[in-house]
Amino acid sequence: MATEAALEAVCSLAAESRLVDLLAPGWAGGGSILRSWDKSGHCPRAVPRQVWTQRGGSCVSPSPSPRRWGAAALMLLLPATTFHLLLVARSGPARLLGPPPYLPGLEALWSPRALLLWLTWLGLQAALYLLPARKVAEGQELKDRSRLRYPINGNPIYDFFLGRELNPRVCSFDFKYFCELRPGLIGWVLINLALMMQEAELRGSPSLAMWLVNGFQLLYVADALWHEEAVLTTMDFTHDGFGFMLAFGDLAWVPFTYSLQAQFLLYHPQPLGLPMASVICLINAVGYYIFRGANSQKNTFRKNPFDPRVADLETIPTATGRQLLVSGWWGMVRHPNYLGDLIMAVAWSLPCGVSHLLPYFYVLYFTLLLVHREARDEQLCLRKYGLAWREYCRRVPYRIVPYVY
Ligand code: NDP
Repeated sequence: MATEAALEAVCSLAAESRLVDLLAPGWAGGGSILRSWDKSGHCPRAVPRQVWTQRGGSCVSPSPSPRRWGAAALMLLLPATTFHLLLVARSGPARLLGPPPYLPGLEALWSPRALLLWLTWLGLQAALYLLPARKVAEGQELKDRSRLRYPINGNPIYDFFLGRELNPRVCSFDFKYFCELRPGLIGWVLINLALMMQEAELRGSPSLAMWLVNGFQLLYVADALWHEEAVLTTMDFTHDGFGFMLAFGDLAWVPFTYSLQAQFLLYHPQPLGLPMASVICLINAVGYYIFRGANSQKNTFRKNPFDPRVADLETIPTATGRQLLVSGWWGMVRHPNYLGDLIMAVAWSLPCGVSHLLPYFYVLYFTLLLVHREARDEQLCLRKYGLAWREYCRRVPYRIVPYVY
């Protein structure tokens, strides 16, 4: 940017002092961009290198000699101009084209403190440039069709929270993939188990409510591990960076807050009869059936739309070449998997009775999370699929709960 600005300044200065002819018809500047010189004295136009080097076009490459002299002149002219501008700016008359008011001695041009300050400034910028929490943008396509990647620093707090690196890795160790399922989810089951054993120690045997909570949540975690590969197509993987949100969520929030029902039961034993336990098991089974059915249907369809299990389903084509399911589970509501997950959340809390709100924290939190997540996904899908997504919304008007939401 500084070079660009300097070039613009020299451009107008050169135009004023009729240096145009000396430097015309072209001179290099600013990386891969070469500039053609407008003889009217207007600012140079940016011209891609390929165009610039083609003869016979609107812009012709100068012969090597003027180019060399032009470049040599600029290397002297640019620093001299910068120096001149700074000197005249602090003089009384501040005349652009007049001689500089004075020339400082060499000792005034050397200061170890200034050098240190400049190196510190550069070091700080280099540290920010190398910061791992950042967005990465792709440059323009190069001749070999590859694209270079450039780090872009955003808001440090937001970036730290959301994570800028989509898939941080050291060799083949993928931090997000590792944290998403293994330590946190298995840790949740272990904490539940420890609480059940503690209850057995305290009261002689685990209560029926504790068995249900442990059994339901074990099924959920086992299912996630069994379908481990499906995690790769979730929003966490395809869209969210690995920052505080996912790291804390996976390693601390999930194991410690998702085991809240078991913790509650240890300190607040709840009587639970067999009929009520059967009803709760039925609710969990319905939730699991919808959750698993919807997720498997979509995963199977995304892997192979001609798979006999999904080949008969009705679809909407999109401009991206992908299709949207509009019958089966995905024709019932736009997020049937969230519906199943929420029904299971209720079943996990019911064994704790209805005397306290605390065990229902998960239901409340999870409802908010999924409503928010659903809205984010809608935005993403609208951007991805445009009109096709609008058509899908028209055909399947409810988001999560049929006829309610
Ligand atoms: P989904 O698995 O629902 O994925 C959403 C994506 O599915 C969309 O972006 C789109 O992507 C595709 N899609 C949407 N509609 C259709 C359609 N009609 N036909 C075909 N594809 C469609 O989202 P999540 O990643 O949020 O959830 C995954 C699972 O994880 C859910 O079961 C959820 O309940 C659960 N979950 C659990 C949490 C917990 O803490 N217990 C937290 C978060 C989620 P594309 O078209 O690109 O394929």
